[in-house]
Amino acid sequence: MKEIYLDNSATTQVFPEVARLMSKIYEEDYGNPSSMHSKGIIAERYIKDAKDNLSKILKVNAKEILFTSCGTESDNMALIGCAHANARKGKHLITTKIEHPAILNAMKQLEEEGFKVTYLGTDNKGIISLDELRNSIKEDTILVSIMHVNNEIGSVQPIKEAGELIKEINKDIIFHVDAVQSFGKFIIHPKKMNIDLLSVSGHKIHGPKGIGFLYINEKIKIKPIIFGGGQQNGLRSGTENVAGIAGMSKAASMLYDNLANDVKNLYEIKKYFIDKVSSIEDVFVNGIPNNSECEEDMTKILGAPHVISVSVKDIRSEVMLHALEESGVFVSAGSACSTHKRVPSATLSAIGLDPKLIESTIRFSLSVHTTKEDIDFAIEKMNEYIPMLRKYIRR
Ligand code: PLP
Repeated sequence: MKEIYLDNSATTQVFPEVARLMSKIYEEDYGNPSSMHSKGIIAERYIKDAKDNLSKILKVNAKEILFTSCGTESDNMALIGCAHANARKGKHLITTKIEHPAILNAMKQLEEEGFKVTYLGTDNKGIISLDELRNSIKEDTILVSIMHVNNEIGSVQPIKEAGELIKEINKDIIFHVDAVQSFGKFIIHPKKMNIDLLSVSGHKIHGPKGIGFLYINEKIKIKPIIFGGGQQNGLRSGTENVAGIAGMSKAASMLYDNLANDVKNLYEIKKYFIDKVSSIEDVFVNGIPNNSECEEDMTKILGAPHVISVSVKDIRSEVMLHALEESGVFVSAGSACSTHKRVPSATLSAIGLDPKLIESTIRFSLSVHTTKEDIDFAIEKMNEYIPMLRKYIRR
């Protein structure tokens, strides 16, 4: 059976070029980068090249890239490392209600340690208000953390404007951005956007799992959260995941080399999908801005290019998910990153979605591999299953 993978916000297929490079490193260039012999030097070279490459993409300095094990670790390091290093300046932190659990649960931990956290709400499209952000900043605010692209509905936050506003009020407030869902889809230049810390994950960009990085502006203070042999200047001990680092860097290059074209195609496919899916009876697309004055800017019209949140009235998300799976179509129910437990989605609640519809929401997420034919097939199956499943529920 043909597989149509529409769960790319959960994870992506590793590019074959990335897998081949990693295989070479595992089989031939497997030295420990801390070793003094030539195998160590070769391994160290992969790390240096990856830092050079990633820092060029972000237009930052190579020494401002810190490798981690995943997006979650990057987020934890950013929040906990920054809060611990700056606690004497203040204990107030700001984030949003629609962050990934990697942020929300790290914030919960910091609250237990005595920090105070303000959670910004959003409008019904999942966008924060800059006025609310402005009014939330206090004398003792040390950190603001705002995600770039939401993983459940694809809403895109006004990061550049938020950065300007924060620094205008107090240039010492540290600005962290979770870019796990936006890196590889958007051009991000932290220095131009007043971003001090930026989290990225390898497996969302056709790189491997178990690798991520954190951009850390060299001017800010941050403390380690992992202790050991002192690798990466003592900021993140542990032998570096050389194959993962090289693989993530290669995947990033492949995406950024073709970004404009790929993103244009993704928006075309997203629009095509939205037009088709919203013509099915009692099926709603969540969080699409759709009210732009600027017809040129697809982000303002359609949000992120790859995420589509769909509520199918009267059909529970897991029923729809497994029905589609029967035909080889893979999607997710709510946020796939938050374990198998059913917890009401913070994002869908924050945008004010009816609780009945929250239970009936599935997420489609596209990649550079997705074609219009894939979408046609998924829509055909939805048209087939939805009336059939509703017949039993609505009787
Ligand atoms: N942040 C966001 C916005 C995400 O979507 C995810 C994963 O889905 C993460 C953080 C965590 O990334 P990782 O799976 O690499 O730990």
